[in-house]
Amino acid sequence: QRLVILGGGESGVGTALLGKEKGYDVFVSDKGKIKEKYKEVLIHNEIEWEDEKHTESKILNANIVMKSPGIPDKVPLVKQIHEQGITVVSEIEFASRFTNATVIGITGSNGKTTTATLTHHLLKQELNVGLAGNIGDSFAKQILDKDYDNYVLEISSFQLDDITDFRPHIAVITNITPDHLDRYDYQFENYIVSKFRIAMNQTKEDYLIYDADDEVIVNHLKKYPVQSTLLPFSLEKPIENGVYLDKENIKITINNNQIIMPTSNIKLEGKHNVKNAMAASAVAHLLKIRKQTIRESLENFQGVEHRLEQVLKINKVQYINDSKATNVNATYYALESMDAPTVWIVGGVDKGNNYEELFSFVNEKVKAIICLGADNEKLVKTFGNMVDVIVETQYMDEAVKIAYKVADAGDNVLLSPACASFDLFENYEDRGRQFKNAVRNL
Ligand code: ADP
Repeated sequence: QRLVILGGGESGVGTALLGKEKGYDVFVSDKGKIKEKYKEVLIHNEIEWEDEKHTESKILNANIVMKSPGIPDKVPLVKQIHEQGITVVSEIEFASRFTNATVIGITGSNGKTTTATLTHHLLKQELNVGLAGNIGDSFAKQILDKDYDNYVLEISSFQLDDITDFRPHIAVITNITPDHLDRYDYQFENYIVSKFRIAMNQTKEDYLIYDADDEVIVNHLKKYPVQSTLLPFSLEKPIENGVYLDKENIKITINNNQIIMPTSNIKLEGKHNVKNAMAASAVAHLLKIRKQTIRESLENFQGVEHRLEQVLKINKVQYINDSKATNVNATYYALESMDAPTVWIVGGVDKGNNYEELFSFVNEKVKAIICLGADNEKLVKTFGNMVDVIVETQYMDEAVKIAYKVADAGDNVLLSPACASFDLFENYEDRGRQFKNAVRNL
């Protein structure tokens, strides 16, 4: 059986190693440059590879193709592969065929990494559990090296597009708002369908945990019911079987078994993080983690870098790094969670953003706006009349220095760009790190 892998990154190389171990004839092909550290692994394991090209004759003879999630279906080579009837799978599909572990799959437009990391943090206190997907070492590699009994997987819609049999025992959909529409023919509906593929192979022994306050999710479920046992969570209304907020307490009821936890146990800021904690705690309760363990672990969870990360307090001004807010919805929750007048650093590559949902928070909480992007025009036009101070720059150092000047004791300085980072930075991590360095240099 010939396994061809398109894309020689973390998931591609992990799949290559697992495929080789399982007896496949493996070939890795990457149109770009494969990183040195991955080349070394491939050479060391005697796996055939090429980079900076795709040799069709070596690809179209595959029995199965594993495609990296970064490669769109529209690419001519991928079209050809499909036309020839070759099975195309994603890493999670391929890798999950070689493990009997309990899989918890977490998807959604925002909150995947936070919820997956928090879920892993709750489970690891009492279970043997790995964290994979878009985080850290690939799922395939962990199956090969670690062989955990449970896996928490962060799963993007691109990974879900190429599954056939993947069936998580517990699936979570955190929320669905428009994102990545360029990969879905600019049809929001296609993107929603893609997210729901996480439940497509589930039966009633499996669980789907989702936000019952999210109309997109609820309407889709009405139109296209799933087989899974549903466990909704809500901040707004009581839920009989699922999770809800009753004043200051989170109540989780699963099959008549209820646990109650005060929200004061949650150390992360923001309503969105209460939702993330609800989803993670529901998974933990399902897998029989003790209530006391869940409470303690919620309390000592430090959060994830670049997500409303508290950087430093200087002259009583709190600097917050939310560089991972690459869309408007993420920034909405960041602004909502601000409890003091805020100097807001925003901008980057606009993905067709509609800023309207931010207006009331900007009016209420934002005292100054610093636009940090290659093209700041739309931001200035949109927000120019709402604040006294609005400035433009293309340098992080300068943005932070201006913020320092404008902020008074008791204020927040928030980097929450609502945009992608590729105009001025390598990626959102680079943007977040430059922000933190600039703050430390003040
Ligand atoms: P993802 O992995 O889905 O991109 P992250 O956990 O990395 O999600 O968070 C991305 C951004 O969204 C951050 O700015 C974070 O503060 C914000 N965020 C986190 N959880 C939620 C949520 N449940 N709803 C909306 N925004 C969220």
